[in-house]
Amino acid sequence: MRKYLQQCRSLVHLTALIPCLSVPVLYAREAYQEARMQMVDEIQDMVRDTSEYLGKDSLSERVMQAIAKVHRHEFVPETLRPAAYENRPLPIGEEQTISQPYIVALMTDLADIQPDARVLEVGTGSGYQAAILAELALHVYTIEIIEPLGERARTTLARLGYENVSVRVGDGYHGWAEHAPFDAILVTAAPEQVPQPLIDQLKPGGKLIIPVGSPYRTQSLKVLEKHADGSIHTRDVLPVGFVPLTGDH
Ligand code: SAM
Repeated sequence: MRKYLQQCRSLVHLTALIPCLSVPVLYAREAYQEARMQMVDEIQDMVRDTSEYLGKDSLSERVMQAIAKVHRHEFVPETLRPAAYENRPLPIGEEQTISQPYIVALMTDLADIQPDARVLEVGTGSGYQAAILAELALHVYTIEIIEPLGERARTTLARLGYENVSVRVGDGYHGWAEHAPFDAILVTAAPEQVPQPLIDQLKPGGKLIIPVGSPYRTQSLKVLEKHADGSIHTRDVLPVGFVPLTGDH
């Protein structure tokens, strides 16, 4: 607080053109920026710690740049903003969570998003993962089953200027056939089996990143790759813990 007051006073002395009210905003921005860079370092450490699972000890530079750029604090409830850059999931209401930043970075890296990619995300939640994808892809289609979350994510993404994200409220088990096929599909809630519609909506050469397993138990994060002849190659990457994929399917 003292540091803030000192900054505030010196800025007021420097120029009367900057209203003092803008200083907390500037100060918070700086603090968030510092916390975000620390989060990036922690993700990199965790990637190294899990390198035996991942088969590598760093993620793509493009992905890490997107993580360093997107303001995670804009996607969490206001009371949790001080914790926004901790490398852990946080509650976002409706008994749902924004995923751990390490997992967001890892899933994005596994999806290998190219600048011309059209990507589907199932499980919009806060919209944070969609924003990361939107930094890398041509267009992101994201589906959320809980209406208030979907609506809030749509508002947040629009406020932050993400014009290349379309949000829909519905059951993502069925994918989004009107916009298929997709270069990549990320599922951020765990079904017990891989949904067939998502495999069908993947382009040849495309990747589906999905946690699979029983609700509230350890699941396996899988990468399914569709080959040109339509065959699917699956590999298990890492044990993970996601909320279940819900819906009537
Ligand atoms: N990607 C999100 C983010 O960046 O905040 C975090 C997602 S949270 C771990 C999982 C989300 O999947 C929840 O918001 C949940 O409501 C949603 N979900 C669960 N089942 C779903 C389904 N069948 N279709 C669409 N969304 C679903």
